[in-house]
Amino acid sequence: MKLFTVLAKTALFFVIAMRASLALAYTANNTCSAGLFPGTVTWASGNNVGIKRDTCSMPDGNQRAAAWSGSTANWLKLSAVNSRFSLAGTYNNNCTIQNNNGVNEAGIVSRSSISGNAGLTVMIRTGCITGPSHYTEGDVMIADDMDFSNEDESFWRESDNQQGQVVMEHELGHFIVLGHSQGFDIMRTGTPEPLVGGTDFHGAPYPDDANGIRNYYCCSSEANVFASAVMLSGGTITATGDSSTFEVCRGGTVTLNYTVGNSGNQSATVNFRIYLTTNLGVPTGGINLWSGVAVTSGVSYFTETNSFTVPTTVPNGLYFIQWQLDDVNSLSEYDETDNFVHSASTVLVDC
Ligand SMILES: [Zn+2]
Repeated sequence: MKLFTVLAKTALFFVIAMRASLALAYTANNTCSAGLFPGTVTWASGNNVGIKRDTCSMPDGNQRAAAWSGSTANWLKLSAVNSRFSLAGTYNNNCTIQNNNGVNEAGIVSRSSISGNAGLTVMIRTGCITGPSHYTEGDVMIADDMDFSNEDESFWRESDNQQGQVVMEHELGHFIVLGHSQGFDIMRTGTPEPLVGGTDFHGAPYPDDANGIRNYYCCSSEANVFASAVMLSGGTITATGDSSTFEVCRGGTVTLNYTVGNSGNQSATVNFRIYLTTNLGVPTGGINLWSGVAVTSGVSYFTETNSFTVPTTVPNGLYFIQWQLDDVNSLSEYDETDNFVHSASTVLVDC
């Protein structure tokens, strides 16, 4: 793209603007279409809804317990969730989940016990005759053959069974209120599901997921931009780059796809840079291929493809490609940890 060739040579300050708007896709898990009180089934207001972790299948100190803490924390960062839901400690019932016992339980179970699914959330609710239908219990179950460690955010050597954390995040979305979507969302059906950048846990509500929660449970003004190394392409989620290495001379160009999102409900204009670095997963330092600002409206994302000139000052070497938002922390966000990400691709500068 001409714009970026000019930019790289003159170091002017350019703006990357939102290019792909979000098709809103969130749905409710259950709706009363008939009865005297049709409408979305939600948890009743006024009650704090607690959910318990099964310490038989997710013991303290285990990776599965860490996945539980990360998954729940990422939902609870949303004010609409935090005001109505909480962690309610633990239980242990010999690795079983009991539906319809009045307790909201979350555990890891055999895949065969949940009909071969990666996860299953069973919701129990009232009818729609005497008043609006509300949930009275929800039980979250995740298949035990999944890997619950931190998945690489660029889908490097991605496989379905590595998605244990984001599947947990997805099932919790069902527990809270959401149904399936076909958008760029963690509530989409099937895998892979999209990930955010950052250092640890990469399963998080995407813009449309967060928007759905705010619309069902209402809604503070809140900001969160994030960097992502995945994109929606041809109806599926794929990596922005494969695990190949671009061999390039100084002054040559590298073509990249990169994704930026805004899961808050307010617009944000923040610094944005794309850079080469030898320190994988470190947000600071590196050599910029591009820097300027990104403009995003609330509940949006964009994925762009552009070519960038490798500066003549880059020493020979193998570099990771990362992009970063708000490096000076000018925006107060509900998640400050998801602002940078690395591509699965690398760059070898050797001439
Ligand atoms: Zn689902």
